[in-house]
Amino acid sequence: MKPIYLDYAATTPIVQCAKEAVKKYMAVFYNPSAAYSGAVEVRSDIENARSIIAKCIGADPEEIFFTSGATEGNNIAIQGLRRVTNGRFVTSEIEHHSVLNLADNDSYILHVDSNGFVRPNDLYGALDKGDIVSIMMVNNEIGTIQNIKEISRIVKKSRAFMHTDMTQAVGHIPVNCHDLGIDIATASGHKFGAPKGIGFIYIRKGLHIPALVQGGGQERGLRSGTENVCGIMAMAAALKYATDNIDKNLNHISEINNYLCTQLDNSEFNFAYNYANTNHYVGNCNVCFMNQRGEEIVEFLSANGIYVSSGSACNTNDDEPSHVLMAIGLTTEQAEASIRISIGNDTTTEDIDKLIETLKTYFSLRRGD
Ligand code: PMP
Repeated sequence: MKPIYLDYAATTPIVQCAKEAVKKYMAVFYNPSAAYSGAVEVRSDIENARSIIAKCIGADPEEIFFTSGATEGNNIAIQGLRRVTNGRFVTSEIEHHSVLNLADNDSYILHVDSNGFVRPNDLYGALDKGDIVSIMMVNNEIGTIQNIKEISRIVKKSRAFMHTDMTQAVGHIPVNCHDLGIDIATASGHKFGAPKGIGFIYIRKGLHIPALVQGGGQERGLRSGTENVCGIMAMAAALKYATDNIDKNLNHISEINNYLCTQLDNSEFNFAYNYANTNHYVGNCNVCFMNQRGEEIVEFLSANGIYVSSGSACNTNDDEPSHVLMAIGLTTEQAEASIRISIGNDTTTEDIDKLIETLKTYFSLRRGD
């Protein structure tokens, strides 16, 4: 039987139009830097993909650079900015490790409130010209949606740089880079229906970021190496598809999330939601089952064909309790008792029924009924 997939925040199934793009560009294999006509056509297709992506996120094509994903993008952005300014690195304690691990002893780590929100007021008077601020748009573990426009306004007022990791936002909620007033942003294709190993970075016009990798000068010198043509074409197709259907998908996911919450609320489970009701991405449902072990629940669900995650699922071999759940004030026991159920476009109410039923079985077995 096909597993019930409820881990869309970790990665998403590849959508049909992206599969078709991969297939097409596996056959049209020319190196886009070559001079013959077949290659020139591939180059032109890549530029078309760049324009499609730019349009989807309120940017201009020359502001988009292809990368291998958000880990690389976050490193290009932050390490690159550090080469153009001596300012401090300022970030929040709930960032993905590809951002958080770039902090050093001189960095300033902002605390978040019990729902995961950065307090924009914490930035007033705390920034100097040239500081580098990195705050994520949507948190991958608890779905908190930060007010990036407001944060960016404060950052820019201090003449500091504003980066946002928009990996969990792009293709899921409307994003407009120009309107947000940010300097740099990163995204990863596999979070919105493209294959893994492709992503992009937005760099506002006029801002020059030095390259981390030297080579043939592709991506206007920012990211050398022969382009991942299949990935780029698939990502553009997937993002256009996600953006064209964003309202429909959000409605569907919201309905399923409401259904899930109703079923949980009506159950006899002893649990608490690890997120706020407002400014929360509806595809994310992180819950703490009191006095239980999240890992064990995940394993039991998996054995019964249901895939969810404990912690963030983004760290391999990490036994530590989630840094995000700890940051919002959970105890180690509560963090370790939590699971993340993340809903996507293909999730049905039947999937949720099966999840609830299996959780009931798990708890009754634990009680020894
Ligand atoms: N940032 C966020 C918020 C993420 O959720 C992820 C993936 N879990 C990343 C960055 C890293 O993306 P990738 O693994 O595709 O490089």
